[in-house]
Amino acid sequence: SIIPDYLTDALGDVEPDVSGELAAYIPELAGADPDRLGAVFATLDGRIYGAGDIDHEFTIQSISKPFTYALALADRGFYPVLDKVGVEPSGEAFNQISLEQGTGRPLNPMINAGAITAHSLAGPQGLDPAGRVERVIDGLSAFAGRRLAVDEAVCASEMADAHRNLAIAHMLRSYDILTEDPTAVVEGYVRQCSVLVSARDLAVMAATLANGGVNPLSGEQVVHQPVVRQVLSVMATCGMYDAAGDWATHVGIPAKSGVAGGLIGALPGQIGIATFSPRLDAHGNSVRGVSLFEQFSSDAGLHVMEVP
Ligand code: GLN
Repeated sequence: SIIPDYLTDALGDVEPDVSGELAAYIPELAGADPDRLGAVFATLDGRIYGAGDIDHEFTIQSISKPFTYALALADRGFYPVLDKVGVEPSGEAFNQISLEQGTGRPLNPMINAGAITAHSLAGPQGLDPAGRVERVIDGLSAFAGRRLAVDEAVCASEMADAHRNLAIAHMLRSYDILTEDPTAVVEGYVRQCSVLVSARDLAVMAATLANGGVNPLSGEQVVHQPVVRQVLSVMATCGMYDAAGDWATHVGIPAKSGVAGGLIGALPGQIGIATFSPRLDAHGNSVRGVSLFEQFSSDAGLHVMEVP
């Protein structure tokens, strides 16, 4: 059909671009094959179109953030979550140690401070750290429509050098945004980031958001519409960190990137998109992934602010 041909051509266009670097701050990620490249479209009626490395598994990293935020909203309700994590774009790097003046509330759930807090809010109140990780992995799996596993090597590698996220968590603890052992929360968050996915999985996860929370493959209502609206709004404003404004104007698709090279976009009522290419730009976003999304957006008129 025409879509796989289109995707193959698009991959061919970006393939020569070998700029950017692997995420070396997680030693295990530095060993990834930098040349991998794939793109997938998942439609809301459950069709998958892909080209390139669509079944190669890599760690989800920050792409887990919108989904865990969705689980926290679903499990705890909007106000308890908003009380602890804001929705203001920070315009800062993903690992910035930035909290709201006075309250210590993280600005949004897409930067690490907010994502670590969102992780702590998944599942019912009082759940132990292991139960919470289980809730998160079950939830991510429901979004993907299949059982997902953890890459133990990446998890251990990130945790061995997680000083910055531990510092952020201790700050959050000092403001009582976190109310328990900060190390246990970071361990859970790092496990969440180490969940293995393929570009195919990510496209289905994005399509589940685009489809109002119903997984187009399994038919499961993973979260409800108001949660999806909240999550997509935050992705649209904060998903690309300090490149969010550039992305919003240029590409105009609610999106989220991860430092292993994944990138998702979700267009409400239309489609879920995922790309995979491990070399990253200075913001920590996949270089060729960003190019592919630029191309998809302009070729198919996918910018959400564009009149169809
Ligand atoms: N686990 C990574 C971290 O916390 C996720 C960062 C990312 O993908 N941007 O640093």
